[in-house]
Order: sequence, then C-alpha cells, then structure tokens
Amino acid sequence: TVRTRVAPSPTGDPHVGTAYIALFNLAFARQHGGEFILRIEDTDQTRSTAESEQAILDSLRWLGLEWDEGPDIGGPHGPYRQSERKHIYKDYAMHLVEAGHAFLCFRTPEELDELRETRRASGDHTALKQSDLELPAEEADRRRAAGMPFVVRMRVPESGVCVIDDMLRGPMELDWAQVDAQILLKSDGMPTYHLANIVDDHLMQITHVIRGEEWINSAPKHKLLYEYFGWDMPKLCHMPLLRNPDKSKLSKRKNPTSILYYQRMGYLPEALLNYLGRMGWSMPDEREKFSRDEMFSHFDLTRVSLGGPVFDQEKLSWLNGVWIREDLSTEAFAAEFQKWALNPEYLMQIIPLIQPRVEKFSDVAPLAGFFLSGMLPVTADSFAHKSLTQEDCRRILQFASWYLDKQTQWHKDALFSGLKTLGEGMGYKVRDFLFPLFVAIAGTSQSVSVVDSMQILGPDMSRARVRFALD
Ligand code: ATP
Ligand code: GLU
Repeated sequence: TVRTRVAPSPTGDPHVGTAYIALFNLAFARQHGGEFILRIEDTDQTRSTAESEQAILDSLRWLGLEWDEGPDIGGPHGPYRQSERKHIYKDYAMHLVEAGHAFLCFRTPEELDELRETRRASGDHTALKQSDLELPAEEADRRRAAGMPFVVRMRVPESGVCVIDDMLRGPMELDWAQVDAQILLKSDGMPTYHLANIVDDHLMQITHVIRGEEWINSAPKHKLLYEYFGWDMPKLCHMPLLRNPDKSKLSKRKNPTSILYYQRMGYLPEALLNYLGRMGWSMPDEREKFSRDEMFSHFDLTRVSLGGPVFDQEKLSWLNGVWIREDLSTEAFAAEFQKWALNPEYLMQIIPLIQPRVEKFSDVAPLAGFFLSGMLPVTADSFAHKSLTQEDCRRILQFASWYLDKQTQWHKDALFSGLKTLGEGMGYKVRDFLFPLFVAIAGTSQSVSVVDSMQILGPDMSRARVRFALD
C-alpha cells in the first residue's frame, strides 16, 4: 500500500507551506487507497515546543487534513514523535560506524573553523570531506580515551555524480563534491534530521516522500543512507515552494505565513484548502473552485507544474468570497460568523481588557472592533501627536517591525520589555514610542494595552498591521 507522510518540525506557528505539503501527500495517498501519516520531527529540542506541535495539529485538522496515524491517535508504527524515539537512532548510527559507512569525528569547533578558513583562502568552495574530518586512528583513540566529545558523520564520495530520480523532474545529477560528510548523531547523542528522517521513513514503511523543493540538495545523502542500510528508498517528489507575489520564497517578512493568521482573518477552511490545492496544480477542467474530495477524486501528481506557485492573498480573498456566497446559507453564515467572532475562547481573552473600560454593552464594539478586523484604515492624521513628528512615527514603526519579525517569544511581557529596550535605545519615552504602535495595531491610541492586543491578535496579524501602517 501507498504510505505518505508530512513531517513538520514544531518550531513556530503552523506554516501554510506545511498544509500545502500535507494536502498533496493526503491527496496522493487517497488517490491510491493508501495511508497518510503525521510525524513530528522535534529532534531540535532547543527550538521545538509543545504549543507549536498542538497548533500544527489543530490547524491541519481545521483545514480537514486528517491523518491515519499520528502522535495524538497512535498507530502500528508509533511513537510518531521523534523525541520519543531517541533510543532508536543511536544503534543505527553505530551500525553504520561498524560497517565502515560512518566515522566518529573528534574535531573541535575551533579546528573546523580553521579547516574551513584554509579552504576558502585557497579558493576551494566544496564541503569539508572525511579526509579533513577523520583524525588518524591514534589521535582519535587518544581523544576518545580523554573523554572528548564526538559526533558521528557519514562517509560521502569525494567526486562523481549522484543521480536522484524525482517524480516530477525525472533523473537529476548532483555533484558529490558539494555534499558534506553530514553529521548523523550529535555529541549529545541526538540524531540530526537526516538520520532520524531516513530511519523513521523506513520503519514507518513510507513509500512516497512528497516534500518541499528545499530538500533536493539533501537527497544524495538520503539515497546513500538507504544504500548503506540496504533498504529500499521511497520514491521522491519535490514540490515547488510557495512564493510571494514578487516571486521570492514566501516568507513572513513579506506575507503572513501562519495558518493562525488566515483563521483570524476569517477565511473559510474549505476555501484556504481549495486555494492551496491550486498551488502548482489544477483540475483537469481547470475549474477554480473545488472541494477537498473533488480534488482527491481527480488527483494526479504528474499535473503539478514546477513554475513557482504564487500565494496571493487577494486571489485567496476572491476565492473565499465565492465560497461565502455560494456555499453558505444565511443561517450557516450566521452560525460560522458566531463561531469565528463570538466563541468563548476568543471572547474570554478580550473581555477582561474591555470590561473595566465600558459603561454599557454598546461601548464594546467601538473599543473592541479591531479584534475582529483585518487591516485598519490608518492615515497620516491618525499619527498626529504632540511631541512626535510623522518622521518619528515612521522610524519607530520601521524599527518595531524589524524587531517583531525576529521575535519568537510572543508573550506580552516579553514584547513589552523588548519594545521598551528598543524605544529607550532610540531615545524615546516608552509612552511616546508605543503611540504609533497603538495606532497601527488598534487604529487609535485610545485603546486597551497594545502588548495585550498583540498577544491576542498573534504574531502574523500584528506584523501585517505594522507593515500596513508603514505602506
Ligand atoms: P520564513 O522565511 O518565513 O521564516 P521558514 O522557511 O523559516 O520561513 P520554517 O518555519 O522553517 O519557515 O518552515 C516551516 C515549514 O514550512 C517547513 O516544513 C517548511 O518546509 C515549510 N515552508 C517554509 N517556507 C515554505 C514555502 N515557501 N513553500 C512551502 N513550504 C514552506
Ligand atoms: N522536518 C522536515 C521539515 O520540517 C521534513 C522534511 C521532509 O519531509 O523530509 O520540513
């Protein structure tokens, strides 16, 4: 049976790219009467969080991307979370060492820097190879006896080409000289993505790996690992990456990328999924609106086109409008709107900020409307302030925007202390510095706490509003 998987790393907000890849894996599995697996790749313990994992699961389910096996529902090949499979990988790495396909590398970070520097100075831009990395046996033994830390690296041919068969591209030749002696096991005993991914795809009996184009350069290493282990390699299919309207790779610095943003904007999950299905793919009759099940019954992976698909929010809005008008009765619209705007979970975040500031219910909408809006209509007049010029406001918004792009701790206290430090560093009083942010986020400075608001609206909505105010 056909078995596909999506394997997100829970290191941030759920990405529309993850949903796009999941959709094509699910469509391919359903077309072949196969199975679709969700696996959490959380070997990077410093960046992975439980909240991110939960948000990924919730978002994929919201979109209707249901998995047959996964961390929350289990299955015959579990556990489906790599951090719970830690004990598995080390033996496989050591097997490769014993078989001569991998070696222990005792080079220190300083030595590695020096080796790279020497290479660069001689104009050689190829990757470090085992001849640089593997110490003479005597020295390696000495370092091992001294208890020095080591990593396990795979052996890679120094020259020649590797041929990778891709379901969309046919055979592709990649130079071995560009491929580094990849670390498989880190000095703390944790596997890298490459080792864990191959071992798990094999143990979970994955037959087709459908993933983003950004992984093409890793394919030679993966092919070699399958050969070293003596395992059949799944078929590979690298999907074109989503792009910003300017054709650069979709990135949160230019475009909201979080599924949570599209939820908060009030898109229907059916319409967002429909739009993702049109990224590089089309129905045989080219119709623009189709449901998940219609897509599955007409699915054909070879119809994916390699030209970079543009994720354009205006086109998504148009398609969503079609869904809203054609698929929702008045009753259904009312019910969906109520679920979106007036659900207890969202209200309970907003009401504590609003209640102390109103005298009657009719005061609520003017004060809280920005929690139910998209981009706010701000003008130069909105930024009129007794001690800040328009130039000050732009400068503040620009630096705040850069700061928010980098911010990974999206909590009001972290946001407040970060913004305070930034503002003071730029020579502003905190109150003044926050003024243009109030306007960008809430439309007016006469509003509830701006960092509370940013926490509730979430990172992508907050960033988008600040960028919008700058335009
Ligand atoms: P950004 O540039 O916005 O920070 P990123 O590449 O750092 O994006 P990650 O958080 O590393 O994004 O990626 C999360 C998931 O989304 C990964 O599985 C990645 O493959 C996928 N992804 C990221 N960008 C794209 C894209 N342009 N098209 C398709 N999938 C993407
Ligand atoms: N964990 C990888 C990611 O985040 C999975 C890549 C793959 O599908 O092999 O995209």
